[in-house]
Amino acid sequence: MTRFANKAVLVTGGTRGIGAAITKAFLTEGARVAINGRTSASTADAMVDLKGAIAAPGDVSTVAGCEAAVGAALTAFGGLDVLVNNAGIFERGTVEETSEEMWDAVMNANVKSILFCTRAALPSLRSAKGAIVNIASESGLNGYPETTAYCASKGAAVNLTRSMAMEFAPDVRVNALCPGVVETDMSRAGFAVNGDEAEGIRRQHDAYPLKRIGTLEQAAAATLFLASDEAGFINGAALPMEGGATVGKW
Ligand code: NAD
Repeated sequence: MTRFANKAVLVTGGTRGIGAAITKAFLTEGARVAINGRTSASTADAMVDLKGAIAAPGDVSTVAGCEAAVGAALTAFGGLDVLVNNAGIFERGTVEETSEEMWDAVMNANVKSILFCTRAALPSLRSAKGAIVNIASESGLNGYPETTAYCASKGAAVNLTRSMAMEFAPDVRVNALCPGVVETDMSRAGFAVNGDEAEGIRRQHDAYPLKRIGTLEQAAAATLFLASDEAGFINGAALPMEGGATVGKW
């Protein structure tokens, strides 16, 4: 399929994990893709595996980093058709364990990044009649204990998606993808049991109604669907990709 032939796409946090899988899928479908990592060095490293992508480095937890990343993509491509706000961090912590520093780091990486990358890309996305996909989480739909700041940030990402969808219509569609656990550096570290990452991931498989977790390819496919013309009448949605984990008890 070449649904995105010649379209210009920016994927924040595209250097590894879900963002790298999204980048590969867009490249396969003919898009021109800019990948963002925190630094020029981390972005350059990732491009070895993501041939054909261009670099758009910048720490998107800051306004300056968002503007640098979007600016690099606009300079390279002359415009943007799709923005995927994927960059994010995970921190474990109860309410009592959540420091001001942890709260700010998580909210800045997971929410502020969406707002300010979108703000920088908006004029171009409006003229392209483009699309935004925000990678939120199952944790934006359900409340979970001991991940206070992360759950708050992903809930904010979901409702920010809805707010922007209303504000940018009819020019730009905005949707969120809400994945359950997908195996990446983030989930391996985040769910490790006494340092045992394999055991942590095994337990995550057991925790889902389908007795398995999602794959990188499934997350990428759902993201491309939301960005594509096939989803042309889907706007402001928060699409769960969690094997049914948020729809009931099992
Ligand atoms: P990961 O840690 O493997 O990759 C995250 C990427 O974001 C990396 O490229 C990292 O460098 C980048 N990043 C983080 N902060 C950044 C910043 N300030 N500036 C620039 N880049 C930054 O994580 P992942 O699992 O691939 O997660 C990607 C997204 O999917 C995140 O928003 C995460 O919350 C979300 N998510 C992941 C899972 C999961 O189980 N893996 C589930 C639900 C949602």
